[in-house]
Amino acid sequence: MFAPFDEPFDIEPVSTDPSIINSLETEPLTRRRFLTTAGQGIAAAGMIGGLSSGTLAAQNPPAIAPGANTPIALPEISAPTETSHGKPPTPLPPDSRVRFAIVGLGHLSLEEILPAFAHSKRCRLTALVSGDRAKAETVARQYGIAAKNIYDYKNYDSLRDNPEVDVIYIVLPNSMHAEYTVRGAQAGKHILCEKPMATSVRECQQMIDACRKADRRLMIAYRIQYEPYNYTMQQMLRGSEFGKVKVIEMINGQNQGGDLNQWRLKKALAGGGSLPDVGLYCLNTARFLTGEEPIEIVAHEYTTPNDPRFREVEETVNWTMRFPSGITANCSTSYGFHEVRRYRVMGEQSWGQMDPAFSYSGLRQILGHKSRDNDMMEAVEERRMAEKNQFALEMDHMAECVQENKTPYTPGEEGLQDHRLMAAIYESGRSGRTVKLPPVTKQDAFRGTPPTRMI
Ligand code: NAD
Repeated sequence: MFAPFDEPFDIEPVSTDPSIINSLETEPLTRRRFLTTAGQGIAAAGMIGGLSSGTLAAQNPPAIAPGANTPIALPEISAPTETSHGKPPTPLPPDSRVRFAIVGLGHLSLEEILPAFAHSKRCRLTALVSGDRAKAETVARQYGIAAKNIYDYKNYDSLRDNPEVDVIYIVLPNSMHAEYTVRGAQAGKHILCEKPMATSVRECQQMIDACRKADRRLMIAYRIQYEPYNYTMQQMLRGSEFGKVKVIEMINGQNQGGDLNQWRLKKALAGGGSLPDVGLYCLNTARFLTGEEPIEIVAHEYTTPNDPRFREVEETVNWTMRFPSGITANCSTSYGFHEVRRYRVMGEQSWGQMDPAFSYSGLRQILGHKSRDNDMMEAVEERRMAEKNQFALEMDHMAECVQENKTPYTPGEEGLQDHRLMAAIYESGRSGRTVKLPPVTKQDAFRGTPPTRMI
């Protein structure tokens, strides 16, 4: 049923499916609109010369859903000079939450996703799917999951008969995403699927079709698009903070080591090397920041000869994307250098940097511009805001879409578009030629309903 694993990423024309595009917000983001949207989270004391000075305070996004209550009012204890802490969160009571089954109990599930349920306001963990029964039983005890809600890959389809599961979150090797999404949708469940969406354009389309046929939501877990630091960079880029943006430089790479048999080094299981695993963050975040789709891609791929890690998958990819507004994004990814996860947006007036940009925590945002009060000085300022658990934010958006019947902000179409573009990157790397892509004029063309945010 699914594409053979050794098949290269396909190149297909960019879809402009009206069922997705029609539901999208297209209003260009003005400075006024950004201030209105973000205003509740900005400490008034920090508003010197607009957004470029002071600290942004993150508030807790309320759970706006049936049964949600208003934040409990607490007396203010800080002086007006201090950054606001926001209001207490308004989590939904456990019996009103969207119930999740997690499929695959590897690093990401055990280290990040399961602990993130403690930060969620709308989600509850109710089931596990694993090929290792003993591990699943241990994890079930740790998180208070009933033994009857432990599944394996064979009886996975019987989740259909379990009313205690609304959403299946797929955290398996990339080549398994398509099969488990299709089977999950056929079992009547909504699907949240880890990135990369799959290993080919064809699989992505099968996943979209299956969820549409079953009338279930499909969301790709692009956590960066739900995270406050990267969101404020998007708002500044689309507003007037940087002036006309010219170049974005992005790097996401790591020295991949350990077990030579790990699935990330097997083309059949991973679909590719550094590009679909970590390079995807540069691709997806450049699209998220600009809201544009590239019209031209030129790439160069290099793999160290005889390195036993890279018998099947690539080591390093460098590529440039040209966007319709004239912005170019220079991106690099590798499995061969020590961890770097950063980007810089360069505009006529100023620059903004995230370093790290793509890590789970510890993100840092720095802006550089001429001093507002002294022509002879350059001002470089760091902006800090309350950090949020990225996986909780992302899962809460999925829950919001299920409860309120909305198209997720990062639906299957968003993942499909990344796969088309990765195919173009590989194609350019192979041929040495620039790959031209059909223009997409609509802003945020493949995104659905924006999440409820208060930065
Ligand atoms: P992992 O290897 O740690 O875990 C994978 C799980 O799948 C394991 O429990 C393993 O037992 C199970 N599995 C089932 N069949 C398998 C098979 N045939 N071969 C190998 N494992 C099999 O991987 P991970 O790091 O948890 O990544 C899982 C998914 O999450 C991948 O798609 C990855 O790209 C994605 N991921 C996303 C992020 C993020 O920040 N969003 C971070 C890391 C990983």
